[in-house]
Amino acid sequence: MIVLKDKKDCCGCHACVSVCAHKAITMSADAEGFLYPTVAKEACTECGLCEQVCPVIHQATPTRPIKVYAARSKDEAIRQESSSGGIFTLLADAVIREGGVVFGAKFDEKWNVVHAAAENTDEMALFRGSKYVQSTIGDTYKEAKSHLKQGRKVLFSGTPCQIAGLKRYLRKEYDNLLTIDVVCHGVPSPLVWQRYLEGMRAKGAIKDVAFRDKTRGWAQYAFRIRTEEQTLLLPPSENPFMRGFLTDLYLRPSCHACPARCGKSGSDITLGDFWGIQAVHPEMDDNKGCSTIMIHTARGQVLYDSIEKVDVESRYEYLLPENPSLEHSPKSTKYARLFWKRFAEQGLDCVFPICKQKASSSLLLQYLKIKRALLGLLKR
Ligand SMILES: Cc1cc2nc3c(=O)[nH]c(=O)nc-3n(C[C@H](O)[C@H](O)[C@H](O)COP(=O)(O)OP(=O)(O)OC[C@H]3O[C@@H](n4cnc5c(N)ncnc54)[C@H](O)[C@@H]3O)c2cc1C
Ligand code: SF4
Ligand code: SF4
Ligand code: SF4
Repeated sequence: MIVLKDKKDCCGCHACVSVCAHKAITMSADAEGFLYPTVAKEACTECGLCEQVCPVIHQATPTRPIKVYAARSKDEAIRQESSSGGIFTLLADAVIREGGVVFGAKFDEKWNVVHAAAENTDEMALFRGSKYVQSTIGDTYKEAKSHLKQGRKVLFSGTPCQIAGLKRYLRKEYDNLLTIDVVCHGVPSPLVWQRYLEGMRAKGAIKDVAFRDKTRGWAQYAFRIRTEEQTLLLPPSENPFMRGFLTDLYLRPSCHACPARCGKSGSDITLGDFWGIQAVHPEMDDNKGCSTIMIHTARGQVLYDSIEKVDVESRYEYLLPENPSLEHSPKSTKYARLFWKRFAEQGLDCVFPICKQKASSSLLLQYLKIKRALLGLLKR
């Protein structure tokens, strides 16, 4: 049975709870708001299945994509609503047109982020746009399996660990399954997100949220939140939730030792932002959003070839300098520990002072590094 010695050893994928036929596992939130499994020993038969399906215990070897593209949707409205080039919507549309079902992350009525199924384009549109909060998988692995067994085409999208978890949970290959993951920096705490929303609800009910509003451009994206009384459109550095996320103050512990980045998820396609596009394919850069598409399988290539888009073939090496999340997990720092110490009393008010402290300490470190290098040169 699953025994967690360290929080880093669980990405919260729900594969174990989904596979346990004896309903011996439940997922519950810890003090940071992340879900972890607990086993009821009296119900457990020690069959070992939960360990077999765990994508942290059984990690694949890193791989590089077989093809890489820079691409964007021809539909300007869809691109505007999407985080990068709007390619997810095109791929999902293609599957829905063939009578398939698409899984992805959406907001529920309380603005929690949850995984769900979509049978049509209106339902699928709710998956559009990155939500920088860990989504809850719930029963969607089981739902996807049921569709697959009935022979229905299924497109499952999510973070790399969610795709790795799904693939291990299924324990066999299905010709009718397609999987898409996103390049993943890490997922912030759902508890911190809800605390941020509580503050905003004081200004009226929440009507709309976009983590990547492109009104001022793709590269200058803003966080947008609309309540009954006001609309806020702020650069990520000025919004406490986004600032804390980008400073890695409240990522899930597993994100600091990610089991599924570097092509380890087993997905057919990986989507990301093509940061640095202006240097390598300037003709593709109009600051409205450009995706990178990494193809890992022949099935992924067939789906990608079937969509209408503007694209150019590219190279994996072009992505690396501007997109560290492809291969590197963010470091776990003392600032995250400081955040959790202060959060209980101060809520998100502690974010900006901690970020300032971290920024000045890295400036000091840089200064000391340069000074040491200069002294080294002088001694020669
Ligand atoms: C938490 C997170 C971190 C990311 N970090 C990076 C990064 O470091 N570098 C980079 O290049 N790209 C990153 N991305 C991916 C990027 O933001 C875009 O999602 C991606 O480029 C696809 O863009 P699109 O325009 O094709 O589609 P979009 O419509 O923008 O994306 C929709 C897709 O994102 C999925 N999705 C949205 N929110 C979540 C969520 N919370 N959990 C699981 N799946 C979700 C949907 O299910 C759907 O598959 C991240 C995305 C997320 C969700
Ligand atoms: S060992 Fe088997 S019965 Fe026990 S929790 Fe794991 S899957 Fe369930
Ligand atoms: S990573 Fe997934 S399968 Fe492994 S313990 Fe956590 S929830 Fe269960
Ligand atoms: S960084 Fe890794 S562990 Fe964290 S959510 Fe993304 S894929 Fe999962």
